[in-house]
Amino acid sequence: MQALIGLGSNLDHPAQRLISALRALQRLPGLTLRHHSRLYASAPVGPQDQPDYVNAVAAVDTTLSPHALLHTLQALELAAGRQRLRHWGERTLDLDILLLDNCVIDSDDLRVPHPQMTRRAFVLEPLLEICPHALLPDGTALSSFLGQVAEQPISPLAELDRDALIE
Ligand code: ADP
Ligand code: MG
Repeated sequence: MQALIGLGSNLDHPAQRLISALRALQRLPGLTLRHHSRLYASAPVGPQDQPDYVNAVAAVDTTLSPHALLHTLQALELAAGRQRLRHWGERTLDLDILLLDNCVIDSDDLRVPHPQMTRRAFVLEPLLEICPHALLPDGTALSSFLGQVAEQPISPLAELDRDALIE
């Protein structure tokens, strides 16, 4: 199945961390990295006394089950030294499953589509860069939510072109 994965970091060289995470996604068994967005800088959601974020979205094909994919991404977060300090607080690496084909999953530890994705410019803009026609499982175009997030500051960084890491 195809998974869209949201990446974020705001600690300890965030842009480099995201590039490393994209490289790690390429190397993992059971995953093939198909596309990635540019890197974007965005203002924090939640506590404002934290650095700006760098965000990106990756499209991968995977043979892993949804929960195996979640656990694999959590292992990458831990390997990046992620500590959970406070809700929506600063983090070295955040990897969220945004969409998994047309699946709807509502379990204690995994909700797909990601419940916050339509409210966040830092998810929608990079996602639509690589998948302009992406739909929610109910058929709603993700592009239809862009107007609601237009006020959220976000801008592409020069560090990485779209798909530059695809081998
Ligand atoms: P957030 O990404 O909202 O800042 P965290 O990264 O700290 O929060 O994740 C908190 C929990 O969210 C994780 O323990 C994970 O089990 C759960 N979770 C639920 N749905 C998803 C999803 N689609 N992708 C990633 N984590 C998810
Ligand atoms: Mg997360």
